Amino acid sequence: MNIDSCIAFAQDLIRISSMSGKEKTIIERLIAEMRILGFDDIRVDENGSSIGTIRGKGKGSTLLLDGHCDTVEITNPSDWSFNPFGGEIHGENLYGRGAADMKCALAAMIYAAGSIDRSQLVGSVVISATVVEELMEGISFKTVVDSVKPDFVIIGEATDLNVNRAGRGRAEIKIVTTGKSAHSSSPHLGVNAVNMMAKIIQSIEKVELPMDEFLGKAQMVLTDIISEPYPGYSVIPNKCISTYDRRLLPGETNDSVINMILADPSKTNVPFSISIEQGEHQTYTGRILKGEKFFPAWSFPENHELVQNAIKGLIQTGLSPLVSGYQFCTNAAYCAGVAGIPTIGFGPGTEGSAHIVNEFIPVSDLRAAAFGYKGIIESILSTQ
Ligand SMILES: [Zn+2]
Repeated sequence: MNIDSCIAFAQDLIRISSMSGKEKTIIERLIAEMRILGFDDIRVDENGSSIGTIRGKGKGSTLLLDGHCDTVEITNPSDWSFNPFGGEIHGENLYGRGAADMKCALAAMIYAAGSIDRSQLVGSVVISATVVEELMEGISFKTVVDSVKPDFVIIGEATDLNVNRAGRGRAEIKIVTTGKSAHSSSPHLGVNAVNMMAKIIQSIEKVELPMDEFLGKAQMVLTDIISEPYPGYSVIPNKCISTYDRRLLPGETNDSVINMILADPSKTNVPFSISIEQGEHQTYTGRILKGEKFFPAWSFPENHELVQNAIKGLIQTGLSPLVSGYQFCTNAAYCAGVAGIPTIGFGPGTEGSAHIVNEFIPVSDLRAAAFGYKGIIESILSTQ
């Protein structure tokens, strides 16, 4: 494997701005590199995600490695010490938006697959670069998974070079109270929807959230609250909407999450409605992706063959991975959480270095990830 070219490729990917919904240029760059590396089949699906395949010499499993190629925006450019689109290396680190989340992982996967000795492999390795993941996890990945039909999936989100066998999910919950408008000089003629919401919020604070031995406690965090009319000049608000970010544990469903809340705030005798928020986003190809913002958690046992084979492959490349889980939500919400396909996470960088000012990755992590992916591919698809 030409690791210097892999590092240069990762720098190039950082230099291409690819905010969610604007990934066309980076997809073209990814395709160009896969061509140079001799991928057998390269295509772009209807959402604009790229899918590159390398085939072994005989029939066998299909291993899909996924990385999303979109990034979050730069909210405060003046806080950055380096150009977020410079792909600059300073000291031991490579800096830029997407360095940790997750352009270096994509570069490493593509180089790992591209350097595989096909004569030693059965089955095929597929690398997907998915779009709009930062807006809705798993929504464009569903199209990839449903067409590739993998036997195993590796998600390349940051694991600090460990093997993640589980991940928390995420849901957006919308709560609405409806009151009655009145002039604020005569509040007794109205019903204040914000006061109603305040009671619901207090009640939700007391909801006992579930616990998972491996992933820890579920979370429910109030992220916004909006009243109508706004601004409410001398008007009693007739409507109030609050949004909660709920971090999910394995086994939690749409119904179980909602029922948990209904069981408690209803004691306050305040009427309210509750639902899972709907998401709708347009891809750069013009496709509208819609869905409920409920992305399930997932978990596989430590003795699962995928976990064990991945560890074996990584040890052969000189790594000593721990077994861990994702606290954030990833594309695995679909392949593992919905489709039930055996999935693990392995990637360079840490969860804490995603979405931050001066996002970076140690160059040594990028190098180790490239050889690590190669080790995992060989371990899972080896003919021996
Ligand atoms: Zn990510």
